[in-house]
Amino acid sequence: MLKSHRPETLAVHAGKTIDPATGAVTPNLTLATTFERAPDGSLPHGFVYSRYDNPNRHGLETALATLEGGATALAFASGQAATAAVLQSLEPGARVVFADDIYHGTRQLVTTQFARWGLHGGFADFTDLAALEKLLRAAPVRLVWFETPSNPCLKIADIAAVAKLARAAGALVVVDNTWATPVLTRPLALGVHVVMHSSTKYFGGHSDVLGGALMLGADCPADIAARLREWQRLGGAAPAPFDCWLLHRSLATLPVRIRAQTDTAARLAAWLATHPRVERVNYPGLPTHPGHDIAKRQMAGFGAMMSFHVKGGFDAAKAVAGKVQLITRATSLGGVESLIEHRKLVEPPESTTPPDLLRFSVGLEHYDDLQADLAQALG
Ligand code: PLP
Repeated sequence: MLKSHRPETLAVHAGKTIDPATGAVTPNLTLATTFERAPDGSLPHGFVYSRYDNPNRHGLETALATLEGGATALAFASGQAATAAVLQSLEPGARVVFADDIYHGTRQLVTTQFARWGLHGGFADFTDLAALEKLLRAAPVRLVWFETPSNPCLKIADIAAVAKLARAAGALVVVDNTWATPVLTRPLALGVHVVMHSSTKYFGGHSDVLGGALMLGADCPADIAARLREWQRLGGAAPAPFDCWLLHRSLATLPVRIRAQTDTAARLAAWLATHPRVERVNYPGLPTHPGHDIAKRQMAGFGAMMSFHVKGGFDAAKAVAGKVQLITRATSLGGVESLIEHRKLVEPPESTTPPDLLRFSVGLEHYDDLQADLAQALG
């Protein structure tokens, strides 16, 4: 396999070798927690203990680093564990700046558990670069963290511009690339130090495995890289070999899934935007989206996530979600099955999510069937 191979090829082959003992063309599942030392005390296969590393995690991490264009990748038991590792790698009391529209679990982690760690700072609208610059200049900042498209309002931040500002302020720049995936956006190539993923979503793709990952760019500061590796090994939130095996298998179809789901999402977004009961659709592929031009520049496609505002507010949106029959009402995203969620209903009271908003993760079902289901639910 060559570095010059296209994402589709890398997704199928990265991190995989033919098993020399059996000729198996797919990775074996290695459940062992410990590995034999040679008489001289060395480790002939490089593995010592499963929390430190194991063959399935090694293969998965190789594939993840390859797909994201990172120097290295670290797999975790969940996206939250990966996020926590980044926050734990900061000195207690560090000032941090997060985008205002991010996964609410990330926000909760920062404002509750890591407030006790002394992390402080604020949340800002990353589409307003002048305001962001002002915030970054106000006092030294150790970490800048954002998502694009953001969750759940699909705001588009200019990754290269934000990274430039954050680097100038001396901050570590992290992008949660869960929604776009490396198939659509490559933040490391745009100046970001670390990419974080909830592998539970598109990487897994089948709503049957939890996972998280950090991909480190070649210029990620060495002290941070070393601490992240330590947190992965010593913190204990290591993914099980079978979870790594499942994720590695799913990566092979990632580019194809993303393309098909994106095509359907683009058509559904265009149709929803014309529906009389829909106030507004948040989808970066629509020319009316305020971030459309930036998205066109930094994304290879506009993705399979969208949200839309239902006319009539909280109750009207809740009622639409209550009427879908094919689309499943459930949290999470990125699976082969379409999911819809009334976010305000499930987020904590302090959430800034608009009450009339439904988040929609478009799966692999046929466009006609999804459109018909939404049409009957909207009435
Ligand atoms: N980041 C984003 C954008 C998410 O949507 C999620 C989960 O919904 C997470 C992080 C957290 O990941 P996990 O649930 O795998 O811990």
